[in-house]
Amino acid sequence: MYLAKAFAAQRRGEPLTAWQVQRRALRPRDVLIEIDFCGVCHSDLHQARGEWGRQLFPMVPGHEIVGHVQRVGPAVSRRQVGDRVGVGCFVDSCRRCASCLEGLEPYCEQGMTATYNSLERDGLTRSYGGYATAIVVDEAYTVAIPEALPSDAAAPLLCAGITVYSPLRHWRAGPGTRVAVLGLGGLGHVAVKIARALGAEVSVLSHSARKEQDAFRLGAHAFHCATDFATQTHLRGAFDLILHTVSSRVDLDALAGLLRRDGTLVMLGISPEPQGIRAFSLISQRRSLAGSTMGGIAQTQEMLDFCAQHGICCDIERIRMQDINEAFERLQGGDVRYRFVIDMASLRA
Ligand SMILES: [Zn+2]
Ligand SMILES: [Zn+2]
Repeated sequence: MYLAKAFAAQRRGEPLTAWQVQRRALRPRDVLIEIDFCGVCHSDLHQARGEWGRQLFPMVPGHEIVGHVQRVGPAVSRRQVGDRVGVGCFVDSCRRCASCLEGLEPYCEQGMTATYNSLERDGLTRSYGGYATAIVVDEAYTVAIPEALPSDAAAPLLCAGITVYSPLRHWRAGPGTRVAVLGLGGLGHVAVKIARALGAEVSVLSHSARKEQDAFRLGAHAFHCATDFATQTHLRGAFDLILHTVSSRVDLDALAGLLRRDGTLVMLGISPEPQGIRAFSLISQRRSLAGSTMGGIAQTQEMLDFCAQHGICCDIERIRMQDINEAFERLQGGDVRYRFVIDMASLRA
């Protein structure tokens, strides 16, 4: 066992406070990672506040982890002490189902083991996330951080980055495709950078005119400010692919209307209430409504290498671990450009 300093929500809805988390003794293929930085994802806030149904407390959130390997188990072959590694949204899966065998671990038929707020494969032990000084993970569920990427600004790529990279690749965004990103937040800002680097023509759809300058700075070719897409007649049929990255309610019929024939609207953001769409909005132009979660380990590595090659990382604001509750408040209010990243040195001090 290894004791790490951490911040945890002790009960649903309570602020995060200092805690100690026990990490398991190293198994043969485990690595002990000293965490340097951890991004603050919107889902950390939802889960710490108990907004997503059945949840496990105490909870240590955090699934955008970058650190250094500090110790390795005897059978570890791919990682060495001192390596800079990342851990994203999941730390295990069944490893036998069709999805796992295809490298699509987040779609594991037995359910993936989430990095926190989840049960390990034994069905008993809980997982605790990266708001901590250290974590123990099987090396197969770690990725290498390319040298060109800074640790702090790379951390959010482990969730936000792969969540947008995966659908952009699956629906083949590239030269000649017109991609719209709905919402310029944690996911949206990196979606713009990646879609642009893939060679697509990129538009940002936002309800906030204040985001226009940023959209262009991040690489967008066009910016459309709208709260009601039904009135945007000039945009009808304008896009091949729309990435929906917002958690607020949006008129999906109007949004689908912006797709050309055979276009796809991909849901990435999660609205708290159920949402509907009229069949006709899809049928009329053979459009698709789809959903997507993050990519698997192999694709996460591919995404990091792609980002290193194209000089892409996230726009971040560094915070101290002790300031996490204030950061949650600001995140809730949309007051961050575009991701908080916790400097774990603050927790070690
Ligand atoms: Zn996340
Ligand atoms: Zn599986």
